[in-house]
Amino acid sequence: MSYFENFIKANQAYIDRHGTAHLPIKPKTKVAIITCMDARLHVAPALGLDLGDAHILRNAGGRVTEDMIRSLVISQQQLGTQEVVVLHHTDCGAQTFKNADFVADLEERFQVNLQDKNFLPFTDVEESVRQDVALLKDSPLIPDDITIFGAIYDVDTGRISPVQ
Ligand SMILES: [Zn+2]
Repeated sequence: MSYFENFIKANQAYIDRHGTAHLPIKPKTKVAIITCMDARLHVAPALGLDLGDAHILRNAGGRVTEDMIRSLVISQQQLGTQEVVVLHHTDCGAQTFKNADFVADLEERFQVNLQDKNFLPFTDVEESVRQDVALLKDSPLIPDDITIFGAIYDVDTGRISPVQ
């Protein structure tokens, strides 16, 4: 039994609320948000965003990976975004394991060789935000005139605090 049928039912009600819109493909705020897949973080309501307002790029931890950069380059060069927010959060799943242990477990379980695969866990959430902001600033594919902010979302209170 999967949950998918419930999604299709729920979508019927959403269609009624949505109506027909013809929003521009370029995000209105010109902002791209890099954040975690965490289920307790509803990015749009937390930031006051509506349909068409911003790009929200998500992966485990909200880490700046090669594929995040790929999305960001398209966001900026094709779709006009000019500001980036790196938004990590408290109690992240990326804080629940050490890379070496996780890699060893996976190699054992799936009988594969993961060599130096880095699943990008972290311990200090402020540090992870600073690291990822620095990666963006160092990237030759992210122009210097792009504004980059870092912040942390508290999953218990919903509060977002800037990271300096
Ligand atoms: Zn997370």
